[in-house]
Amino acid sequence: MKYCKKCVQPDTRPGLKFDSKGVCLPCNFAVQAEGIDWEERLSELKEIAEFGKQRNSFGYDCIVGVSGGKDSTRQAMYVRDELGMNPLLVSLNYPPEEITELGVVNISNMISLGFDCISISPNSQIWRGLMREGFFRHGNIFKASEMALYASAPRVAIAYHIPLIFLGENPAISYGALEIGSVSGDANRMKHANTLKGGPEAVLPENATEKDLFWYRFPDDEEMGMASIKMVFLGYYIKDFNNYKNAEFAIEHGLKIRNEPSEDIGDIDGFDALDDDFVIVNQVLKHLKFGFGKVTDNSCEAIRLGIMTRNEAIENVKKYDAKCADIYIKKLCHYLEITEEKFWEVAESFRNKEIWDKNKSGEWVLKCPLE
Ligand SMILES: [Zn+2]
Repeated sequence: MKYCKKCVQPDTRPGLKFDSKGVCLPCNFAVQAEGIDWEERLSELKEIAEFGKQRNSFGYDCIVGVSGGKDSTRQAMYVRDELGMNPLLVSLNYPPEEITELGVVNISNMISLGFDCISISPNSQIWRGLMREGFFRHGNIFKASEMALYASAPRVAIAYHIPLIFLGENPAISYGALEIGSVSGDANRMKHANTLKGGPEAVLPENATEKDLFWYRFPDDEEMGMASIKMVFLGYYIKDFNNYKNAEFAIEHGLKIRNEPSEDIGDIDGFDALDDDFVIVNQVLKHLKFGFGKVTDNSCEAIRLGIMTRNEAIENVKKYDAKCADIYIKKLCHYLEITEEKFWEVAESFRNKEIWDKNKSGEWVLKCPLE
């Protein structure tokens, strides 16, 4: 395990590449970004907006998938107020057992800002089955829910004849996830992302059949082609589209963020995944498999933005990365209908022994800690 010389990104992140100087791809993109002609990008974006407006057949120019969080608040308001579009918001809701109070407050805030919003609430029992299978088979509780988050907007776009879908950041630029193909604004290859591979069939539980998977399955190429839907990363076109700026903007417009201690939620910023506590547990699983969690992710971005030094990041990662209070493990176990013993047994089975070793006191430690 080695780390980027500029940020704190480890090479265990799936798909991430380092250059010969030991610098990660997103850090190199950040340097290249200084030479971007943002005026040119804006005019490209305005052409895309025009595409949506001209093909509007029933009233909506585009779809913005929303959770009510910082990114979706910024996206929806940008599309409406800066591009003069009439967006339909699509919210794929977590089940009642999963969504947080904060999530409910924030999606309500979003609608009160003056938008039409379609809420989709998939069957909680099927959702649970898919989450259990994702956990048992892949050590990833979000395999199916990420599919639903991506698939729901195109599903609604096809049903309502809406020509354009805006997504937020391009993961190829932010995380070096190059499998999605392009370092551009085009999001049509998003379905090739690692997390979406295999489709929902890969985690099909016993209590479900193929017909239960409508909201989880990305429309096939033929369906997408017939509807000639364009999917675009809005973040690619906006210079200051990043977690910190989006949070600041959204808070000004009523977003409520977390105030739990960093050591309970493995997060130093408190503005991520506001609608879902299971994310906190999933960071624990990610840490076992890849040796890093959310504090690493956010610190990398903060370093690139010049608001955190590498040394501060190292300190934060050591103190808080993948920390998770018992209450969140209990909440997840209760939903998945498993015991905490079972949770840890399965979680430990995914611990990557190539990067973890036991020290003299018998505790698991990373063989190559960040320094
Ligand atoms: Zn880096």
